[in-house]
Amino acid sequence: MNTTRVQIPRLLAGVLGLCAVAFAQERPPIEIRALPVGPDLFMLTGAGGNLCLAIGEDGALLVDSEYGQLSPKVLAAIAEKTDKPLRFVVNTHWHFDHVGGNQALAEAGAVVVAHENVRKRMSAEQVLGGLGRRIPPSPAAALPKLTFAGALTLHWNGDEIRITHLEPAHTDGDSIVYFSKANVLHAGDVYFNGVYPFIDVNAGGSIDGMIAAVDRLLERADADTKIIPGHGPLSTPDELRQYRQMLAAVREHVQALVKEGKSRDEVVAARPTRNLDEKWGRGGLEPDAFTGIVYDGMTKR
Ligand SMILES: [Zn+2]
Repeated sequence: MNTTRVQIPRLLAGVLGLCAVAFAQERPPIEIRALPVGPDLFMLTGAGGNLCLAIGEDGALLVDSEYGQLSPKVLAAIAEKTDKPLRFVVNTHWHFDHVGGNQALAEAGAVVVAHENVRKRMSAEQVLGGLGRRIPPSPAAALPKLTFAGALTLHWNGDEIRITHLEPAHTDGDSIVYFSKANVLHAGDVYFNGVYPFIDVNAGGSIDGMIAAVDRLLERADADTKIIPGHGPLSTPDELRQYRQMLAAVREHVQALVKEGKSRDEVVAARPTRNLDEKWGRGGLEPDAFTGIVYDGMTKR
């Protein structure tokens, strides 16, 4: 199946929270696909954020948990790769297309691990920045049981799995996860490969934070690192650098208009992303929505 074609409705479903609509309309039904990215390591894709599955002697570990509706399929995809139980789920941030399966996977025996702000945001009602969608608090059974403030290393399956919290970027609870043996980096939603990203301004996100986060990813990566973005296809560091250039160009153009004293509507109407839209404006946030969110993050406080 053509990955680009199927990715678009899935990405929009994740970004706009239209998951129920996507489920009703999408034919054939969504399957969880496993792409090998290293020895005993797989990128799993379905409808929400990209997952990373690590298997081995100690048991399975999963980065992010997909929409809850897909948990039976996620568990089946894990069982296809290993007879060992799922022991850990690491959340990259609080959004429902990354934590929706937490409860079912915890009930299957996994301990959910995340930055303390992920637990905080999941514990109370949230309003998605720029989209205005209300997200109710999660049930206690879905909340991370193990939280950390800065960084956490799991010595697991003979690997060092390094989880690092970033300064606020996409949200204030973003973590990246590095699998040392395979040289694979899960970026969470600070990286939407190939499209304009959603930035959750209400949860502390901003374009400055996104660019700083990408710089952290690039520091961690070498030429051979495989990067799993929160959304979009598996990436090379070069593709990540192109994404950084796009973010920096949009920041510069929007910043110039803000300095001229333009209102949000005027900034959006000026179409500061127009020279980038052909490459980046398809499949993720619409250019106008992205411009508005960049403006919001720049002018808040
Ligand atoms: Zn997100």
